[in-house]
Amino acid sequence: MTYLTVPISARDFDTAKRQVSGAVAAGAEILELRMDFLETLEAGSVTALIAEVRDAGGGRIPVIVTCRDRKEGGAKSHPDELRMLTLLKAVEAGADFIDLEYANFVRPEIGHTIRAALATRPKSRLILSAHDFAGRLSDAHGLYREISQACPTVVPKLVYTARHINDCFEAFDLLHESNGDRIVLCMGEAGLTSRILAKKLGGLVTFASLDEQAATAPGQLTAGTLRNLYRHDSIDADTELFGVIADPVGHSMSPAIHNACFAEAGMNRLYLPLLVQGGQTEFDAFLDNVLARPWLGFRGFSVTIPHKHSALQYVHRNGGVVEPLADKIGAVNTLLAERRATNEERRLAAYNTDYAGALDAITQGMGIERTGLRGVPVAVVGAGGVSRAIVAGLTDAGAEVTIYNRTVPRAQELAADFGCRAAGLDELPRLAAKLVVNCTSIGMHPHIDATPIPPDCLQAGMTVFDTVYNPVETLLLKHAKQAGAKAIDGVAMFVNQAAAQFRLFTGRPANSGPMRKAVLDRLRR
Ligand code: NAP
Repeated sequence: MTYLTVPISARDFDTAKRQVSGAVAAGAEILELRMDFLETLEAGSVTALIAEVRDAGGGRIPVIVTCRDRKEGGAKSHPDELRMLTLLKAVEAGADFIDLEYANFVRPEIGHTIRAALATRPKSRLILSAHDFAGRLSDAHGLYREISQACPTVVPKLVYTARHINDCFEAFDLLHESNGDRIVLCMGEAGLTSRILAKKLGGLVTFASLDEQAATAPGQLTAGTLRNLYRHDSIDADTELFGVIADPVGHSMSPAIHNACFAEAGMNRLYLPLLVQGGQTEFDAFLDNVLARPWLGFRGFSVTIPHKHSALQYVHRNGGVVEPLADKIGAVNTLLAERRATNEERRLAAYNTDYAGALDAITQGMGIERTGLRGVPVAVVGAGGVSRAIVAGLTDAGAEVTIYNRTVPRAQELAADFGCRAAGLDELPRLAAKLVVNCTSIGMHPHIDATPIPPDCLQAGMTVFDTVYNPVETLLLKHAKQAGAKAIDGVAMFVNQAAAQFRLFTGRPANSGPMRKAVLDRLRR
């Protein structure tokens, strides 16, 4: 059992009481009373707060009492004696756990007093913790062993700052290699996955805050996010993992979309935001780390900016298979860790669902099959990464494409790769196309009054597809509708590429209704 633990981090007693009832209502499975946050600390307050928890939780919710030393992240500089007295009172009041810094426990006068108090109340257990806010602990495995042997019923707790997602693997290894009640977590944005995966890997607790203001450590999620977005209630040791590898990743809509679909399909799968900072070296190290640990259960990834090319390189170098069109595009956005027939080892297969998503959006919008694109004159505006994927898809389907771009040599280069024509933006007024696709960022929030194509170039009978999805209805699409043309929005492409990924991840068709709803909900926010 991994308990979703909500810290109570109020500055005064009345606010602490309110936080206790809020945490119980939010589904907390343990409450941690962070006594060090109280401005005025009296040892007796802990007795009253434990009683509040018993009352609010009907006696079913265990309590951890912590009065953290300032040296290890405590909120206030309360004197050592008062902090110890608070822990002793907590034991007396029947706290299920007290959390003490290992560095203080090894001081004989403190260790002796705490051991003696716990001997009289065997129901209270001791969490011995060590923290590093600057980075990785110098010898996490050694320290873990030392703490584990400090007293018979101890719960070892190591918490350190991950400066990169690759720093989390040591925490995962510690959890994987040990048994019994233990806590190993990473702080910071790069450590987020350790908070979400604690339940899969058997940590005793994962901490989540009541709301964003009440977080007690960097990178802590809210209890609502952990339960509703990251499926805390349904994760177990067998949960299969997926995620989006990106930098930045915080605003990605993919976790909301894929987790909603996994939940709807009743699948024991979880989709994570995977912040991989750096270039090819860091990207390679991340995938090496994942593939070296099959017990983590990673089965697939979405890959986005800035790693789409690195992903392709990695798969080539490691003997994986690449979808031919993805190879020609020079970028992949989906990786599958496929099992080799004979053993647990996995090899990667790489795909590009961007072009497939765009083609599906276009054909659905035009009411045709892909074969219906053969010979259709298409104007693609823009010659960047998205344009490359869409031009690849359109030319593969036999469309007659002209690429218009501000930087003409870039358009020419792309056109040469896919056997189409290139032109400058000044030639747009003479465009003669049945399908017009905007692959530039023009018109994207906050520049919503801009459009890449003069309105009088658009006419009835055309279809206009704008890859920009924020706003959903761009000025270009408004002009298209006014001209009597069909309009296809960028959300359709986004949803279709996610649906194509879902099919690759699960072998089942996606229900794109909840996907589109999840995207529109996020965009409205
Ligand atoms: P990119 O590689 O940076 O390419 C940007 C393109 O836009 C280039 O052709 C650039 O022209 C052109 N451009 C930018 N600002 C311009 C301006 N002020 N005037 C004229 N041309 C301008 O970007 P990308 O990765 O291809 O992404 C392009 C857009 O696709 C994004 O902005 C996003 O809205 C959309 N997108 C949609 C989805 C979806 O699922 N719907 C997914 C990803 C991206 P130059 O070559 O002259 O610089």
